[in-house]
Amino acid sequence: MAKTIQAIRGMNDCAPTESPLWQWIEAQVRQVLASYSYSEVRMPLVENTALFTRAIGEVTDVVSKEMYTFWDNEEQLTLRPEGTAGCVRAAIEHGWIYNNEQRLWYMGPMFRHERPQKGRYRQFHQAGVEVFGIANPEIDAELIILTARLWKMLGIEKHVSLQLNSIGSLEARANYRTALVAFLQNHQGLMSEEEKERLVKNPLRILDTKNPELQKVLDDAPKLLDYLDDESREHFAQLCSLLDAIGIQYEINSKLVRGLDYYNKTVFEWVTTALGAQGTVCGGGRYDGLVEQLGGHASPGIGFAMGLERLVLLVQEVNQNIPVERAVDIYLVYQGEGTTLAAFQLAEKVRSALPHLRVMLHASSGSFKKQFKRADKSGAALALVLGESEVQNNQVVVKHLHGGVDQQVVDATQVIDYIQAQF
Ligand code: ATP
Ligand code: MG
Repeated sequence: MAKTIQAIRGMNDCAPTESPLWQWIEAQVRQVLASYSYSEVRMPLVENTALFTRAIGEVTDVVSKEMYTFWDNEEQLTLRPEGTAGCVRAAIEHGWIYNNEQRLWYMGPMFRHERPQKGRYRQFHQAGVEVFGIANPEIDAELIILTARLWKMLGIEKHVSLQLNSIGSLEARANYRTALVAFLQNHQGLMSEEEKERLVKNPLRILDTKNPELQKVLDDAPKLLDYLDDESREHFAQLCSLLDAIGIQYEINSKLVRGLDYYNKTVFEWVTTALGAQGTVCGGGRYDGLVEQLGGHASPGIGFAMGLERLVLLVQEVNQNIPVERAVDIYLVYQGEGTTLAAFQLAEKVRSALPHLRVMLHASSGSFKKQFKRADKSGAALALVLGESEVQNNQVVVKHLHGGVDQQVVDATQVIDYIQAQF
């Protein structure tokens, strides 16, 4: 046999047994976004590398080590590691946000060259939202309320919690950065080489270090919330009081800064303890400067992205009541002279009249016994059986595969009504 070729590490297939769960989760995402009147956008999977370096920032993990980048003749291109940059690029390019508000969403694969492990892959999927043109904290609240509703629909609401912070204006962050670096200078002894490098390049990222000793020291570090500018402070207070009034619980986490450069004011993450180290299922924040930074007319923006693999894992872990549909409802069994055509015609008739049912035609010959075995294995509720005598007499035998009812001989003119009554 020829040597087999395998999938790329960290890039997963979705098996036919898994796709119903994915489809169900995706359907809940679409449903919740529709009920908040958000519109879908679809962007290319590949963009100019410069878009990501400019939007996300050179010293972030994503840009410095996780991007799949290649040359296409003279152009340097990158497989998209996230959706915000491409969405902002598209919005500027097509004038969607000039003097306009937009509530947009997207869903699809993203690519990051990371070490694959449970909940962390090289090709993974995100559903994300970007809202442009609204500066008020009402929209920050709406995004959080929308995600909270989705968690309820997915049956995971008891297993996720909301972490919230404000990282203020660029200027406030620069002041805070100075104070944090001054504080951390005295604790370099506790730092790894990577953390020492971060101290110079991106000191705020040290706040989410996994190093327990450094974490302990950070409890006494200056707090970002104490450095906020007045406007950000007011914005955050309004957001918190809206969430309080609506009954959404949150924890203010002054160490939450998020990995990417473009955020300001509100940042948030929905986290779970049910998935081990990969605990963030959804993260987002405000990015009021990004549109202008990428060459558009200044326009406020805010968005989030959720990781679908992590949601699938979490739903599998905690929700025992997923309404997964049967793969086959009706299985068509036939044998003998003239029955092939009759079976095709009957299958098409059922599909036309009852399009919500899943009809499978046997299609690979064999004895009735073998065909019934297949029908049983398919999980179908009914088998429709055509032999030569049924075709001649214009009848169909209906067999109830899960027992309970004897097999029935139904007149061909009645068969749709009969089937309809069974589902
Ligand atoms: P992490 O801290 O886990 O690396 P992140 O901050 O890099 O996450 P974001 O860029 O905010 O993640 O992406 C939003 C969401 O996308 C994450 O919260 C997570 O659910 C999901 N996600 C990010 N990277 C991966 C990955 N490599 N594999 C699977 N899901 C991912
Ligand atoms: Mg990451």
